[in-house]
Parts: sequence; structure tokens; C-alpha cells
Amino acid sequence: MAFPVAIPGIYDYEIPDRFVDRITPGQPVLVEVKKSRIWGVAVEIKTESAVAGKVRLKEVIDIKEGHWADSNRSLLKLYEWIARYYQCPVGRVFRPVAGKSIINKKARTVTVYRCVDTANGVFIDNGIDANVNINMNPGINTDSARRGLSDNQRIALEKIKSHPEPLSAAQLQARFGIAASTLASLRKKGYLSKEIKTEFRDAGELSRSSVDEENITLSHEQRDCVERVAASLSAPDKPFLLYGITGSGKTHVYTELAKRVLSAGRGVIILVPEISLTPQTISRFRAAIGDAVTVIHSRMSDGERRDSLQEIVTGRRRAVVGVRSALLCPMEDVGLIVVDEEHDGSYKQSDTDPRYNARDAAVMRGRLQGAAVVLGSATPSLESYCNALTGKYRLLTLTDRFGTARLPAVKIVDMTVEHREKNWTALSRYLAARLEEELSLGRQAILLLNRRGFSTSLLCKDCGYSHACPNCSVNLRYHKADTVLKCHLCGHEEPALTSCPKCGGLKIHYKGTGIQKAEEMLRERFPGARILRMDQDTTRRKGSHAAILDAFASGGADILIGTQMVAKGLNFPNVTLVGVLHADTGLHFPDFRASERTFQLLTQVAGRAGRAELAGEVVIQTYCPNDAAVRFAAEHDYLSFYGHEIKHRKELSYPPFGKIARVVVEGPDESVVAGFIGKAARMIAGVNAGVNVNNAANAGVGAGKIKVLGPTVAVLARVDNVYRYSMFLKSGSPGHIGDVLADVRKLAAAGLPSGCKCIVDVDPQNML
Ligand code: ADP
Ligand code: ZN
Repeated sequence: MAFPVAIPGIYDYEIPDRFVDRITPGQPVLVEVKKSRIWGVAVEIKTESAVAGKVRLKEVIDIKEGHWADSNRSLLKLYEWIARYYQCPVGRVFRPVAGKSIINKKARTVTVYRCVDTANGVFIDNGIDANVNINMNPGINTDSARRGLSDNQRIALEKIKSHPEPLSAAQLQARFGIAASTLASLRKKGYLSKEIKTEFRDAGELSRSSVDEENITLSHEQRDCVERVAASLSAPDKPFLLYGITGSGKTHVYTELAKRVLSAGRGVIILVPEISLTPQTISRFRAAIGDAVTVIHSRMSDGERRDSLQEIVTGRRRAVVGVRSALLCPMEDVGLIVVDEEHDGSYKQSDTDPRYNARDAAVMRGRLQGAAVVLGSATPSLESYCNALTGKYRLLTLTDRFGTARLPAVKIVDMTVEHREKNWTALSRYLAARLEEELSLGRQAILLLNRRGFSTSLLCKDCGYSHACPNCSVNLRYHKADTVLKCHLCGHEEPALTSCPKCGGLKIHYKGTGIQKAEEMLRERFPGARILRMDQDTTRRKGSHAAILDAFASGGADILIGTQMVAKGLNFPNVTLVGVLHADTGLHFPDFRASERTFQLLTQVAGRAGRAELAGEVVIQTYCPNDAAVRFAAEHDYLSFYGHEIKHRKELSYPPFGKIARVVVEGPDESVVAGFIGKAARMIAGVNAGVNVNNAANAGVGAGKIKVLGPTVAVLARVDNVYRYSMFLKSGSPGHIGDVLADVRKLAAAGLPSGCKCIVDVDPQNML
């Protein structure tokens, strides 16, 4: 039994007589844990328990329908691996797929009307849906109950018969104009019966896709990639890394492979980053693979999630396209796992346990279930490309864009020169001129500014006061549309200031350009242009994401300005110009991956231009024109970037050359937090002292030794009135780091005051 809560381990329970033969692995069961009742998931039915002699087993109290794990236990092995490697209770790994809010949801049902065959008193078999189950009133279709029909009723009956599937009263009204009273009389006379039908809540927001998925003939390169993976499907050994430039048709490689795997009767899991699971992406996969596809994303409701998971676990749908948690989905006999944009940081869950990386867990799942694993990217992570070079992964490459499409020309604009020449706006003269030109030709442009809100900080010009969040150690951001100041960390909101709270001065200056300010500036500069903005704030409502993209795709706007949301996965043939307003936004982050992330973002957004016959141009505005990430992205030169960056990693023993983990301690009392993390650090130092130094190999970090960086105040020192301290652990040996982290967790379990948290993050992506 495993619980989707923080309880370590898996426990045995007794199955009382009334539930014997009614519980199968994967089923939710109610049991008592430490005096409270909790829903868990049955993971194995045993005939004997190893602990039965020692303790009295408690009984299962209740059960629920539904299944949340596969029956051959490969999933459990995956979950246990995740719990072990990422250091969390195994129950937590169940949470994304079997949490309380999901298993408590019921199937949505509707009452539908089915025709009763009047000739022999049996139901007409008009394409019975597998989901149709209970017949509510089987007794009514007797001849004696049938009487003559009015014309109106006869016509209605004909219409109902003409539809292949039974419909609900509302659907019959909408489609055929049949009134509820007519249905009631037909039923009374024995011509119709009522049934309960399960309805699938589909979260697949669809939108117009510019790609015709039907008429695809793979190019040589693409076919080659497909064949190499296909050849390994029956006995996959190593994962594949598909390194294909933007627009090279990686998606077609995935869908062709998916089709083959599905037709062999096996399952397919396709992971895409949060941000690129757009309605366009869903449409492309649905068009290519068909109705076998169900969707999992973070904007779906618990009911939709429940239904998707049930479609998967029952085998009704054998393919899933989803974000990271889809990797945990209860699918049996998986034949193919694709991780698109494998470098993407959103595959790592950073905010809560299990803090797993779905890409790395995909490799493990592939091994456990005998599935081929394809990691794809135009900008592979340094870790994955290194694995491909050392032979741990097999490398597949797509070096050309499809057809006549070419990679766009890239121009770097040095913004320090703009300032020197008295252009203080966020738009360089060159980009402004190019926008003017493309718009006059009726073409479209995408602009990237990876900064939410209107301004980045707020400053009093009289006294220098800057306005921070009362709960966090960051500045508030001005949101002009609702004239409020917002904290992007804790959600704190307050009215915009009209005067300085410190000196009373009126010269409040909104410093820095956020995307809202940029939008305003564009509207002033190009009054005739139709502009759409896409960021977290404009896509909050359901369907708004699809609406913006559809409007842009159908030519309803000239400029799409957005945060990193516009950088990935989008395909608009009429886009000829892409502008990056501030390429350095992420460059100076205190993170060893800052340069890699910048390179990836720039390459991805540049890839949105010139994806069809029209040639494209990309303009990158930057204050650091000589930075390697900016320069190599402008040259579309991944390999040189890799060569440059990997040297730094090696020097400092950062991944892929060493393992890192992060420990964060949080709590309301700063001295307690600092005190505890200091104790943990000293404990690790003690462990180190015990390691035989002669065993230490490798340059940088010794194999057995763990290097501790810190502890210090975290970059985000205070969030929502919680103080935060952190330290990094580096080691040449992953196993050893795991042992040490387990000790840290034990120390926290024993000695961390209540109200404090000790977070352990293995292979962290978030350094803040
Ligand atoms: P990627 O995922 O590598 O960025 P896509 O799969 O989105 O690339 O393909 C880019 C564009 O090229 C799309 O419009 C796609 O339809 C087109 N394309 C790629 N390969 C083919 C092909 N074999 N036949 C027709 N169109 C193709
Ligand atoms: Zn805050």
C-alpha cells in the first residue's frame, strides 16, 4: 500500500472477507495510518505478509473503483527509483497521478436516449459505445407499453435512429430540435430507453495548426532517424538523443515512430515542456496520431486529469501527450517514450516532492518497461550531449530545415551603442526600421521580452527609496493594466503608489522595461499595427492561450510580443522577423546554467522565423554582444557553444562532470534556519573526514568526497516571510551524495523545529 502523502515506505494491510477478490493492484483503498484514515493505492496483493507474525495487521476499511498503477509492477519500480534517487517518500511519487483530489473525482455521466427496436423488443445495436453501461429501465420495452405515434413523434424517432450513438436530451434538442416532452412520450410508449453513459472530459484544447499532418513524406535524414529507432524497438538498449535544428521536422520523426509503435499494439508517451504544450502542439499530435491521444497538462481540472488517467490505465487510449507528470502515468507495455526539448528546465519539478527530472526518469522508465527512449532538442542539454559523445546515448542528427526553409540570418544589435547615440528606448533603430518594413509588406513579427509586468522596480527619484515586497526580499512589479504592484513570488498585491512612502515625493520612477511597458511603447511607435501580448497574465483564463495563437495564425495581428512562451514550439509560416528585446535578461543569473539557458532561449526563439518559403531574420538586442551564448546562438552554432561551455563545467566539476544537490532550509526564524543548516554542513564535513582520501580519484572533486558550497543565505533570502538558507553539495559519485542526503533528511526528521522545512533537491535546476 502506498500513500500519496509524506509517509515513508509501503505497508501491509489485511483484506477483510468482504473485499476479497475485489481489490486489484492500482486500486484506491482506505486505511488507517497513525489514527487517521487515508486513501492509499494498493500496489501488490500478497497471500502472506512478512510482518504478519510480528504486528497485527490493520484491515482495509473501504475501496474505490478505478486504477492508478499498472499490474505488472514496473511502475512501482519506477516510483521507487524516483523516491530513492530524488530522496522523498514513495507515496509522494504517487501524488501527481493518484492524489486525493484526483481519485475523489467521479466519472462524469450523462443520461442518453437509445431506440428500442419495435419489431422484436430488443435494443437496436447502433454502434454501442464501450463506455455505455447501465440500462436504467430494462423492463419498459414490452409490447404492451407501446402505443401509436403522432407524426411529430415519428419524425423525432427517425432522427434519433439516424444518429449512430445515443444522445442526451440537451444534444437531441440542439441537434434535431426535439423537445423534452416528445422524449418523455416516446419513452412512455416504449420506443426509447434511458441509459447512463460515461463522458470523457477532454482537456485537449485544440487550435489551428499550420502543418498538414496527412501529406508528409519524410526526408532522407528524417527517415534515417526513424529507421534507426525503429530497428531497436523490439529490444531497446540505449536512449537516443535526436539533435535536430529548429524546424528540421523532429515532430514528424516522433509521430512516425508513434504510429508504428501504436500499430504494434504498444503504448506511447510523448513529453513536451509546459510552455510548448500549446493548443497548436496538441492539434498536430491529434492530427497525426489520431484519437488514441489523450492529454495531460497543468491547466486541466482534476476531473479532466482523472479521466485522462483512466483512459490510459484502462488501455482505451494508448498514447499520451503531456507535461512532466505524464511520465508517471499508469500505462502498461510502453513501447516508446519521447522527450521533446529535453533540455527544458520544466521537466524538473523544483517546488515540491517528488523533485524529479522527468527526462531522466524517462530513461529509467524506458529501461524498466523495455521502451525506446528518444530525447529530442535543437539545443541539447550539456548533460545529454555529453552522454551522446561518450556513447551512453546514441546520437541522431537532423542538420537541415525541411524543403526550402533556411535558418534565419541573425543580427546582433549592441544596445550600449544605442544609448551612446542617445536612443534610450527599448527598441533599437535597426529593429524599429525592420519592423516598419516587414509590417508594410503584410508580414508578421514575433518579439520576445522575458519579463512579466510593466516595470522591474520602482524608485523614488527624490530619496532613492525602492519599494520591496513586505514579505519577500524582492522588488514589487508594477502591473499597469490593473494599477497594482504585485509580488511575483508570494502574490502580494497593493495599489500603485502615487507618492513615495518614505519622503512623500511625487517623482516615482518605474524603472526597467517589462513586457507591458514594451507593448505600450510598440503601440505608440506603430499606431497602425495590431499587437497581441502573450504572457502569464494574458493567458490565465481557460482558452485564452488558444485564442491568442489562433488570432495570430489567422493573420488577425501583426506583432506577437511575449515572454518565453513565444519561444517554443510555435510554427507560423508568415513570420519573417523575430526580435529579442533584451537578450541578457537571464545571463547574469547566479546559476551555473545561466549561459546555457540564454543560448537555448535565443536559439529557440530565432527558430520561429523563416519556417516556410519566406526567409527570416532575427534581431538580438543585447548589452553583451560578445558573450559566448549570444554570439554562438546568433551563428546557430550549437557545437561551438557546447565546446566552449563544457570546459567551464569541467574546471568547476559541475554537471555533467560531477553530481550536485542542493539543500534548502526554510523557516520563520532566521537564526533557527541558519543554525540548522550549519549543523547539517558540519555533519557532512564529519562524513568527509571519515572518507579514505586515497580512494579519491578524478580532478576537482574526489570520488568519495563531498564538497560543500555554503551554507549561505539563499538568493531569494526571504519569501512570504520565510527565511531561506541553502548549500550545494558536489561529488564525483552519485551514490555517495545520496547517502549523505539521506543523513541530512534523518537529521531534519529528528531535530528540525516545527514550522521549518528542509528541502533536498537532487540535480537541481533552480538555484534561487
Ligand atoms: P521541429 O520540431 O524540428 O522544430 P517541425 O516538426 O515543427 O520541426 O517542422 C518544421 C516545419 O517543417 C513544419 O512546418 C513541418 O510541417 C515542416 N516539415 C518538416 N518535415 C517535413 C516533411 N517531411 N514533409 C513536409 N513538411 C515537413
Ligand atoms: Zn512577496
